[in-house]
Amino acid sequence: MKFNDRRTILKAGLQGLTGLVTVPVLGGLAGCSGEQDAQEQAATQIVAAPTRLPTQALSENVTLINAAPGNVLALSSKDGHMLVDSGSAALAQSVQLTLGESRVHTLFNTHYHPDQAGGNALFGEAGAAIHSHEITRQWLSADYYIPSQERWVSAPPEVARPTHTFREKGEMTAGAETIEYGYLLEAHTRGDAYVFLRDSNILAVGDVASPLKDPELDWYAGGWLGGRVNAMDDILELANADTLIVPAYGEVMTLADFQAERDMMWHLWERCSTLVSNGRSAQDMLEAGVMDEIGRNFDDPYRFLYDTAKGLWAHYTNFGGKTV
Ligand SMILES: [Zn+2]
Repeated sequence: MKFNDRRTILKAGLQGLTGLVTVPVLGGLAGCSGEQDAQEQAATQIVAAPTRLPTQALSENVTLINAAPGNVLALSSKDGHMLVDSGSAALAQSVQLTLGESRVHTLFNTHYHPDQAGGNALFGEAGAAIHSHEITRQWLSADYYIPSQERWVSAPPEVARPTHTFREKGEMTAGAETIEYGYLLEAHTRGDAYVFLRDSNILAVGDVASPLKDPELDWYAGGWLGGRVNAMDDILELANADTLIVPAYGEVMTLADFQAERDMMWHLWERCSTLVSNGRSAQDMLEAGVMDEIGRNFDDPYRFLYDTAKGLWAHYTNFGGKTV
């Protein structure tokens, strides 16, 4: 089966504090290793005094806050700030300190993971409108189970949950900027979203691009390799040669950087979908040398292949698997 058509994959199927502070714990660990750090920090509920985080100016009004523990994008105007992702619960006070005294009026979550949505409680409590895909709101509204850790994570408090949701795409303004946002189907979780600052030509994509950490597929939450490739193609349609693409972790990407990662994921898709449909396991794929073909060293190639196989099994009918 050939997958040159970017739509083929899905269509192929059956159709201000000082000293030590206590922070609210939001969410738990699912797919991301960065989340593990966030979860470990959150588990103690005690964090050091907030500190100013490193920043990078992307334009006159747009600042990237790093190490929160990942990236938090801030668009600033006289009304305050719009954020894309809120960082971890443990670092939320530091994000606010870095922003200064102006309030956060709007917050987008690219997905539910606690290293991106962990600061929701702080900003929600202060009155921010929180926007996300509907499924991300659902993940943040109920207890959920983490199979790899054999434990449940309690739902965050009401104030941390998205107040505005969408299912496909939408548009709004913040200051003079037009904001476009939309769904990235099953790319990393089942509730991923992009947020495009159209006038600034800055496109935040959350964990759907992963130039620093191993790309992760939260298969238990609905992410899988086919969805990842399709979503990356959707992002390529939005972007142009001058677009700054902001991943959840790592440096801002050019279009060429992003295209290279997409092509790597495409190669992995072609190889892994074929092998899995022929009954091969993650270990088989590792031994077949799949991870030696992509020109990048993953920290934990077996884990990537395990999550890949699980996601492919969950979407077996979407990639030509025979179910009868
Ligand atoms: Zn994530």
